[in-house]
Amino acid sequence: MSHAAYLWAESLKNFVNHEPWMAEGACLTLDLDMFFPPGTDATGGVKYREGVAKAKAICAVCPVQRQCLEFAMANEEEFGIWGGTTAGERAGRRSGLALSETRALEAS
Ligand code: SF4
Repeated sequence: MSHAAYLWAESLKNFVNHEPWMAEGACLTLDLDMFFPPGTDATGGVKYREGVAKAKAICAVCPVQRQCLEFAMANEEEFGIWGGTTAGERAGRRSGLALSETRALEAS
């Protein structure tokens, strides 16, 4: 099940936050697991970074990337790639760090 399809199903199941933009996600027909690479940059190493890069490449051409990121930030999504960002990058943004600063921290 894709990222967007999963969210869509969860939203409908819970009767909350029906988000029409999810139907336009570039991940709609892809495997959800792609957007939840195992580990973190520190624990998952190269495999994690490759997984993140693959997911981000899809997000980069997604027509609803902005909405997806806004949704993840508003809902403080702690896991997975949303709107082309990792959980760590989103946490950094919430802390007021620039995205480049958070990416540098994740890679160190
Ligand atoms: S930005 Fe990425 S995770 Fe969000 S809907 Fe688009 S492809 Fe899926």
